[in-house]
Amino acid sequence: MRTKICLLYGGKSAEHQVSLQTARAVIEALDLEKFEIHPIYITTEGNWIKGAQIETKVDDVKNLQFSNGKSMAPNAMISLEDQGSGAYDVIFPLLHGPNGEDGTVQGMLEVLNLPYVGNGVLASSAGMDKVIMKNIFAQAGLAQVGYVSFIRSAWEKNREAAYSKVEETLGYPCFVKPANLGSSVGISKCSDREQLEMAFVEAFQFDRKIIVEEGVIAQEIEIGVLGNDDPQCSVAGEIVPKKEFYDYKAKYEDGNTALIIPADISNAKYEEMKEMAISAFQALDCSGLVRADFFLTKDGQVLINEVNTMPGFTPFSMFPLLWKHTGVEYPQLIEKLIELGKERFSEKQ
Ligand code: ATP
Ligand code: MG
Ligand code: MG
Ligand code: MG
Repeated sequence: MRTKICLLYGGKSAEHQVSLQTARAVIEALDLEKFEIHPIYITTEGNWIKGAQIETKVDDVKNLQFSNGKSMAPNAMISLEDQGSGAYDVIFPLLHGPNGEDGTVQGMLEVLNLPYVGNGVLASSAGMDKVIMKNIFAQAGLAQVGYVSFIRSAWEKNREAAYSKVEETLGYPCFVKPANLGSSVGISKCSDREQLEMAFVEAFQFDRKIIVEEGVIAQEIEIGVLGNDDPQCSVAGEIVPKKEFYDYKAKYEDGNTALIIPADISNAKYEEMKEMAISAFQALDCSGLVRADFFLTKDGQVLINEVNTMPGFTPFSMFPLLWKHTGVEYPQLIEKLIELGKERFSEKQ
């Protein structure tokens, strides 16, 4: 009997395209003798469309963007028997950003009592909101950059107060980010008041809440964490953006950002980061996977930037590459995540 996997991809978020690339790569890597693949495409409007069972590799993501399927309530679609073949053994949400990586889809799967891959509701939602995440990290004693957050309605009432607060508490350079997003969408680096004003307008287009962080000059180091109650760390990798910072284009379009794996850091710094990655994983009560992102400053300070509960997951993304260098190839990594999802489900029962 093959394991029946329901792949959920696409989604309403700004990271829709990234999710499509991931879905294509996961389909390519799954062993069709072991797994039955049942795709559900979530359109940018948020409609869920079921495709036919996938029996061959998909060479173009356009073939994953079903347009003629029938649209149904998501919960009905996922819990009903699928084309006479029975319910799914596991759901694999390959979704980034809001409405997928943020606990909403996870909550629906919990209510339906279905096993799924990756982080649960709490970790997903806390990890998606950079303000909540950083508050929890602070409480866990993890070192990080200074930050302040703003709500759109308050900023609209008194913009000057918001900008002054940034200048008084953080200064320049600073980074302005939507609180709930990823892939650098809506993020700006600011060096003066004019840029700050533009950055607020930009970030508030994506979210009603934003975070502003003190900008640091540092190496960017990332570590993959895999597991449930006993999480393990990958080797560390370094990102060397060829631009001002690691923005959306550098991540997915230019393809010329250098990923150095393993990162050229001392063993002592690697150990320190591993310990912080595990603390962060546990502080948010994560399960399955996260990619923990750090800054390593010139004077040797390790600061945690964030964790991503559903990191970029194509074979050329950092998280899978970190595991490849740690000895876990992409197809094995996918199978491991499926096992961890099932394990988490059975332990909950
Ligand atoms: P993803 O989820 O894809 O990793 P994200 O949208 O959550 O990205 P961040 O990782 O917070 O965004 O920031 C994106 C990039 O911006 C970082 O990789 C780094 O290059 C730069 N950056 C972000 N915050 C800071 C900061 N406080 N100081 C210096 N650089 C920063
Ligand atoms: Mg992120
Ligand atoms: Mg992300
Ligand atoms: Mg990041």
